[in-house]
Amino acid sequence: MEVRTRFAPSPTGFMHLGGVRTALYNFLYARKMGGKFILRIEDTDQERFVEGATDVIYDTLKACGMNWDEGPDVGGPCGPYIQSERKDLYLPYAKQLIRSGHAYYCFCTKEELEARHEAAKARGEVFKYDKHCLRLTQAEIQRRLDEKVPYVIRMNAPETGESTYHDLVFGDMTFQNSDAMDDMVLIKADGMPTYNFANVVDDHLMGITHVMRGMEYLSSTPKYNFLYNAFGWEIPQYVHLTTVMRDEKHKLSKRDGDAYYSDFISKGYLTEALINYLALVGWNPGDNREFFTLDELIEAFDISGLHTSPGIFDVNKLTYFNAEYIRRLAPEKYLELAAPWFDQALAGTRVDYRRLAELMQARTEIFSRVPDMVRFLKDLPDYDTELYVNKKQKSSLESAPEALSFCRDVLERVPDWNETVIHDTLIPAIAEAGKKNGAVLWPLRIALSGLLSTPGGAIEIAYLLGREETLRRIGLGLDKLAHANA
Ligand code: GLU
Repeated sequence: MEVRTRFAPSPTGFMHLGGVRTALYNFLYARKMGGKFILRIEDTDQERFVEGATDVIYDTLKACGMNWDEGPDVGGPCGPYIQSERKDLYLPYAKQLIRSGHAYYCFCTKEELEARHEAAKARGEVFKYDKHCLRLTQAEIQRRLDEKVPYVIRMNAPETGESTYHDLVFGDMTFQNSDAMDDMVLIKADGMPTYNFANVVDDHLMGITHVMRGMEYLSSTPKYNFLYNAFGWEIPQYVHLTTVMRDEKHKLSKRDGDAYYSDFISKGYLTEALINYLALVGWNPGDNREFFTLDELIEAFDISGLHTSPGIFDVNKLTYFNAEYIRRLAPEKYLELAAPWFDQALAGTRVDYRRLAELMQARTEIFSRVPDMVRFLKDLPDYDTELYVNKKQKSSLESAPEALSFCRDVLERVPDWNETVIHDTLIPAIAEAGKKNGAVLWPLRIALSGLLSTPGGAIEIAYLLGREETLRRIGLGLDKLAHANA
């Protein structure tokens, strides 16, 4: 039997990381089993629909390399794959359930329902639809239908007994029908199916073999199975996925900017790193491997490695993955990705981006940190002269002015301002003068950067700044030191 999985997002906004991970596991499993991965857009809740959200779904999946075999744009044998375009297909199925006694028309108005809801609350009970309209006679139903009284169609759920199903992650799940079942709406007054109904009809019609979705659906599954059984359809395998959490207690949240795929991409995380890490939040490859390409994930993926405890999404861990992926980029690619971030800090300068990229690649964990790391090349920070003091390098407030003057004299006569020539002029000159490299290069780097730690050393920075700016900053350093020593 061919494995058919599906990702069935509702286009309600950006792509949540939990959704990306759900899509990923569905994709990986379908590919691993040589099956089909289907994309279905669940937009029957028109009130929650957000313009443009469908494109966000397509773009995100594509960026992540999760290509679907059947779906809205590529088509397939079970189309359409957008639920609102399937609108007319659900009612006949609901009517079939009415005929078999598994569903019924309900004409209760919103006001009537609210009044009963309030009354139940006053009694300290949780309101469940009370099967009021199930007691209508056939003639009463027909009269209302003829009069075009608005209606919904409800499931006629059992009130007693229990329901059991097997989940491939959580094992056998048993629920009391009195808790898990209710006469949920299948068809709404506007004729649209509810998610609760459409997911069953569509998963059946699309031949879905494995339903992988968030564990918030664990307890609704008995209701879906009731429908499968009422139709006499085969129940799919269930694979419920734990929630992606920020820590033990908190979900990823929109407010903290850590919920959406796009939050991370705009901070300068690489999609490959994000996907790699996300795969491991909730799934275990069974060995200690951490780094996986998408193909390697397909190879390694197995439902038995899915966790039953919540996946903690640790941003620091993601950053560690990201830094490693950045280190592995071809230098050209790094330059291409880093350039816009360099621009943020360095627009208007003539800094050699190619050289800067070489110096920055190994130090870049997230691209959004790059502008702050390179900004000193445009604007010298206002630094403390204490930075000149470094015992190990034999640099002190007293020795630094002499070292800087020496540098100024040498650098003024460097014939060609490139790194090799600067190096080959300065280093021998230091030796000739009987000085120590550290005692000269430490204060030089401080004067040029105003920072304790920089990408590259004094010579690289001098090159990037250009001769004029280098000499200007040395002059500023001398002034600062004269002031401090006065
Ligand atoms: N549209 C549902 C959601 O976004 C899909 C759940 C499912 O996979 O069945 O939560």
